[in-house]
Amino acid sequence: MIIDLAGKTAFVTGSTRGIGLAIAKALYGAGAKVGVVGRDVERARSVAASLGDRAAGVACDVAKADQVDAAVAAAEAVLGPIDILVNNAGLTRDNILLRLTDADWDTVLDANLKGAFHTIRSTIKGMMKRRSGRIINIGSIVGLTGNKGQANYAASKAGLIGLTKSVAKEYASRNILVNCIAPGFIETDMTDALPTEARATLLEEIALGRLGRPEDVAGTVLFLASDLAAYITGQVLVVDGGMVI
Ligand code: NDP
Repeated sequence: MIIDLAGKTAFVTGSTRGIGLAIAKALYGAGAKVGVVGRDVERARSVAASLGDRAAGVACDVAKADQVDAAVAAAEAVLGPIDILVNNAGLTRDNILLRLTDADWDTVLDANLKGAFHTIRSTIKGMMKRRSGRIINIGSIVGLTGNKGQANYAASKAGLIGLTKSVAKEYASRNILVNCIAPGFIETDMTDALPTEARATLLEEIALGRLGRPEDVAGTVLFLASDLAAYITGQVLVVDGGMVI
């Protein structure tokens, strides 16, 4: 079966670069209309223009509920009701716990976890009415394993798993399927800063012997957004090349 998302509208947060951009490209390639979302409207619009005329760029900080509601409304006005929501926007403020400030904690939890709550609340009513929807949350392997120096980030990603499972249970009767993808180490701006030595050590732990590419995550999103995944909800799919087995 070929994945065909023609007629569907996707809204992908954090799709101006990295994993989100690969997700937007994959969904667009499968025929979906795509809302490209970042904090900078010009950047979001230029990425959308590079995809093609079935894409529109809108801006919001996902941590801000009013901005999310406005961005969802703006995307729906151009592209139609959202069928596929991908909560990919995320950021890090890494430090050992003793040095984490309240601001480091709040910034990460507000964007990574509360942001997903905001977008789900803003889009799920429409999905309920149409009795159809897919919500795909991009978590992280560290949400399952924890990680030194990332207590705030790991907590936000573990929280996304609880959110995923709860919303999956609440809305399964409306045919809204909610899943979480937990990527391992994927090469993007977020992981660029990692020193060469740490990179080499990490590589030794990855069974498939290579770092992940944004497309590795995008392929899994495409699957979960498609009819192929019609009987999967409330799950966490690990996409880490066998880093944690
Ligand atoms: P990048 O830093 O490369 O990109 C992050 C994206 O999120 C950008 O498009 C950015 O847009 C957007 N963004 C960040 N904060 C906000 C916000 N508050 N509101 C709206 N948009 C925001 O990250 P990656 O592509 O590496 O990561 C994408 C997701 O995958 C994240 O959730 C991350 O936690 C997760 N992940 C990544 C892994 C990796 O190894 N790279 C591993 C596991 C999970 P802009 O700056 O234009 O606003």
